[in-house]
Amino acid sequence: MKNLLGKKFCYDSRKIEHGCVFVAIKGNKVDGHDFAKEALKKGASFVVVEKDMNLSNQIIVDNVIDFLLKLAYVQLKAKKVIGVTGSSGKTFTKEILNSLLPGSFKTPGNMNTEVGVPISILNEYKEQEVAIIEYAMNKRGDIKRICKVIKPDVGVVLNVGRQHIGVAGNFENIFYGKMELFQCSNILIYNANDERMIEYVETMNKPKVSFGMKKGDVSLLEWSYIDNITKAKYRIYDEEKKVILNDIFHRGHLLNIAAAVAAVIGADQKVCWECLEKIKNVKGRFHWKNVGGIRIIDDTYNASLSAFDVAVETMLKVNAKRRLAVVGPIFEQGKFSKETHERLSKILEKLDGVFILDGYEGSEYIKPKNIIVRAKNKDKLAEKVVNYLRNGDIVLFKASRGVMMEEVLYKVEEMLK
Ligand code: ADP
Repeated sequence: MKNLLGKKFCYDSRKIEHGCVFVAIKGNKVDGHDFAKEALKKGASFVVVEKDMNLSNQIIVDNVIDFLLKLAYVQLKAKKVIGVTGSSGKTFTKEILNSLLPGSFKTPGNMNTEVGVPISILNEYKEQEVAIIEYAMNKRGDIKRICKVIKPDVGVVLNVGRQHIGVAGNFENIFYGKMELFQCSNILIYNANDERMIEYVETMNKPKVSFGMKKGDVSLLEWSYIDNITKAKYRIYDEEKKVILNDIFHRGHLLNIAAAVAAVIGADQKVCWECLEKIKNVKGRFHWKNVGGIRIIDDTYNASLSAFDVAVETMLKVNAKRRLAVVGPIFEQGKFSKETHERLSKILEKLDGVFILDGYEGSEYIKPKNIIVRAKNKDKLAEKVVNYLRNGDIVLFKASRGVMMEEVLYKVEEMLK
């Protein structure tokens, strides 16, 4: 098994790199075993499979994912492993930790599943002393499966929300699914604003560092915006620390920073405060830009209730003529879809007006009192938005990934230029 270390691992038969080790993953829709032969033909050096496929260079294992996890465990030699999970902010927190701990390894992009985590360690980990690993879940047991092998020294649970509740089944499943990271970790970084999480960690006899809004060992005390700058004040145990960030960050981001600082303290490392000056929001993720006197917030990458909440809160905190939003639904809510979108409507009612993209599952339940227009056609909606916008307005674009709200945004930008 060890002689596979150092080789590139691949699992998508459309993206075979010469010499890679193809692992046959059984997904919901596709079974990688059906592509093992093709992978060898395309240049894979080995295929890892769960049954005899009568192929040259096949390695038969009981379970491909367990095999990958064990191999990744052997490869990962970091002195400190920091694990991050939560309903929102995992990616952001991982990036912040990576900035606060220069030279650390992080799992890239959304390589945060039982397949993504081991493959990214096998392909990209290069003996860094600190590793930051994102753990995602859809259902109970997902995080446990990864973290019982790839065990964090420090485990961060940012928050527990209603994302993917339609898949998880209910809130209990989401909560206990996330708590699996605490079960695996030696040091717990928990949210001091979440009563349920506090109750849970209090039963665990492990060292802890907490973070939160006006609460916790690392506490966000206040924040404000001046032009494109965010000023935040934190308290770390007894000491106050003022931070200036060169972009607009919402309360969720600022709490994620508190969580990251708590994790660095938990990992016994030094916080590189000046590293925070360089952080920026990227395209699609609460990215602010000025187009012809109108401030556009490109938050099209994804959506959840809590992310809408913090986005709207920020819009209310900055100067603007009118605060508007172009929105689509939040997916994966199952039987909770109506309730989620009713709550979303309440959040949106704090703004001056809302444009709604219809025709997607859940759109019909978005009914704030301040609707300006609803339309199914993205181009038509964009046109209506552009006709309505005036200098000094601020406008948020947000919906679940599958909606591809960026198509409306690009059209609006094109017309505004
Ligand atoms: P994840 O990787 O968990 O999906 P991201 O960092 O990609 O999280 O952020 C996803 C969305 O959630 C973005 O819209 C972002 O602005 C928002 N967000 C990030 N952190 C928080 C937080 N702590 N609370 C609420 N919303 C957040």
